[in-house]
Amino acid sequence: HAKEQGKECTRFTPSMQMKASEKLKMENDLRRALERNEFYLLYQPQVRLETQEIVGMEALLRWNHPKRGLVSPVEFIPVAEESGLIVPIGEWVLQTACLQNKEWQKAGYKPICVSVNLSMRQFLQPNLAGKIGRYLEEIELDPKFVDLEITESMTLDREMAFDQLQRLKALGVGISIDDFGTGYSSLHYLKNMPIDRLKIDRSFVSEVMEDSNNAAIVSTITSMAHHLKLKVTAEGVENEEQMNFLNEQQCHEAQGYLFSRPIPAEEFEASFLQRNLM
Ligand code: C2E
Ligand code: CA
Ligand code: CA
Ligand code: CA
Repeated sequence: HAKEQGKECTRFTPSMQMKASEKLKMENDLRRALERNEFYLLYQPQVRLETQEIVGMEALLRWNHPKRGLVSPVEFIPVAEESGLIVPIGEWVLQTACLQNKEWQKAGYKPICVSVNLSMRQFLQPNLAGKIGRYLEEIELDPKFVDLEITESMTLDREMAFDQLQRLKALGVGISIDDFGTGYSSLHYLKNMPIDRLKIDRSFVSEVMEDSNNAAIVSTITSMAHHLKLKVTAEGVENEEQMNFLNEQQCHEAQGYLFSRPIPAEEFEASFLQRNLM
């Protein structure tokens, strides 16, 4: 199962290495974290390579634990997932990120898209599209400014995934496949699933200049995406060489430390929105 969740999980497997007692403790702490306002979001900009403008942001969850301090999502998300707590937590993430995006639009900044990570448990909810649709209507955010990130492993049950994605697409939100290349997508269902974008996993991007196999993988994914009329985003772009290579491959968008680490909303507003020409 860990393998399905992509490379990072197989490398760290924090939830598997954790003792049962530790997990239980964390689960109990997580149960209270929402009501105690211990979660917050950071935002990482997404840049259109052709023009260098900010066209989106990914919302990334952080947990400020009262005793342990900052806990990495790589550590607590698997626990939240196993316990089902990811459902209310994920809902909070989605609502908070969408509301932030709406606030910025109301303030008059050039509209950008917000990307939100969905977990398997959320994706399995039959009423997910209904809930999201109602919330977007309530806050009056145009669904085209919302992008949902799922992983390849969530589409293993093809029929379920197809139906769920159809319902989500019908709302007008975008769908991206996160960590693309680390899971088991078959080309057959990539062709048939109603998705909009592939996000090339950071593991391929990070050594793209050193490892010719990675370069081949990145250029193959990019060109395949073009042929399938999908957008492509590269994650984990850390230097200009990587960015130039991706630009040459006509990768549409990029995200990574080269542009910015994930940062708090106020900083995102000051550093990026106030400079993004209207
Ligand atoms: P992800 O969705 O693949 O998010 C990208 C991760 O890469 C983030 O780690 C980000 O901080 C990091 N990153 C971005 N640019 C660079 C770079 O240039 N170099 C390097 N080395 N790293 C970069 P983060 O924030 O620790 O999140 C880890 C994972 O936790 C995420 O991976 C995602 O799977 C999960 N996650 C985070 N927030 C949420 C959430 O709200 N819901 C769910 N279900 N999962 C979340
Ligand atoms: Ca993501
Ligand atoms: Ca990713
Ligand atoms: Ca990842």
